[in-house]
Amino acid sequence: MTRPYNFSAGPAAMPQEVLAQAANEMLDWPDASGRLCGMGVMEMSHRGKEFMAICAHAEATLRSLLAVPAHFKILFMQGGGLAENAIVPLNLSAMRADRGERGQTDFVLTGSWSQKSWQEAAKYSNTHVAASSQASGYTEIPDPASWQIRPGASYIHLCSNETIHGVEFHALPDLKTLGSDAVLVVDFSSQVASRPMDWGRVGLAFGGAQKNLGPAGLTVVVVREDLLGHALDICPSAFNYETVAANGSMFNTPPTYAIYMAGLVFDWLARQGGIAAMEAQNISKAQTLYHAIDNSALYFNPVAAHCRSRMNVPFFLRNEALNDAFLSGAAAAGLLQLKGHKSVGGMRASLYNAMPLTGVQALVDYMQAFERSHG
Ligand SMILES: *Cc1c(COP(=O)(O)O)cnc(C)c1O
Repeated sequence: MTRPYNFSAGPAAMPQEVLAQAANEMLDWPDASGRLCGMGVMEMSHRGKEFMAICAHAEATLRSLLAVPAHFKILFMQGGGLAENAIVPLNLSAMRADRGERGQTDFVLTGSWSQKSWQEAAKYSNTHVAASSQASGYTEIPDPASWQIRPGASYIHLCSNETIHGVEFHALPDLKTLGSDAVLVVDFSSQVASRPMDWGRVGLAFGGAQKNLGPAGLTVVVVREDLLGHALDICPSAFNYETVAANGSMFNTPPTYAIYMAGLVFDWLARQGGIAAMEAQNISKAQTLYHAIDNSALYFNPVAAHCRSRMNVPFFLRNEALNDAFLSGAAAAGLLQLKGHKSVGGMRASLYNAMPLTGVQALVDYMQAFERSHG
């Protein structure tokens, strides 16, 4: 069966092989040796040996794919990226504060998602904007050398890929060389598994699964062990990283089916050659699309070249009156969910791991044909 190409920003396209495998296993899950267990994954106790094996395999595969060092915990949580905007300060903001004092948290604003994180953290901590590219319309990343990081900050938060504005950090800052001993917190919701991660620079990374890992409902948190144990008294137990870690992500019922699906995606990623192979493909996909945009008279992308996102490519038609015709023609050509986020308008093509290069080529062919007939 050939399906249309789906450019959704999230929940996003899943590898077709993974969907087919899940369909096959829906009614009766086979273990690694092929033995059926008489129930589907959704129907299993999260504490039974079948699901414990599924969860342990998913975690181990993710750890190996992302090369997560042994002194980091991988937590499977719920609540998505937005809940983590509260959960992170609830857990980490007091790390360097005196008892009873609100800890300091610093933020680098490069788009809507980091802006939301900053706003939410103000409920639980003493926040500060270390740098912002809002004045540019979030089309660039402020030079790390210019960031105003407070000496007492517990952590600095950044969003490594701004899903809406299409702005990506192609290297994470080394806070030590910036003269800061704060911890780096990264929202990698839409960047995770698209490229290798430099764990030596990171204290905690979090992301909702529904962009590049699996279905909505699962949130992945990777946290350095020494950062556990500083939660505020008001932190809900189910959101206390130390508690979640001590219980192997089973303090309460985890999102079992989403963990299973993400585990199938991790196996698929390993079969593709792992993260280095995905990165090479993601570079080709992004280059193909940006090249077409930059060489057109109709389309443009406003983001500075040094921080254009590989995963989410917003683009605009110089004649906005053509937007509806562009989208309906695209859908008729089997190119789905290209409408831009309502806050910025225009178009957006998300090129996560499940999008093959042939999908990007089909989009470019369509864009060029549309430009010829409407130019
Ligand atoms: C989608 C997204 C979020 C929000 O995730 P939810 O799971 O909807 O809460 C946060 N940060 C980034 C970078 C995102 O792309």
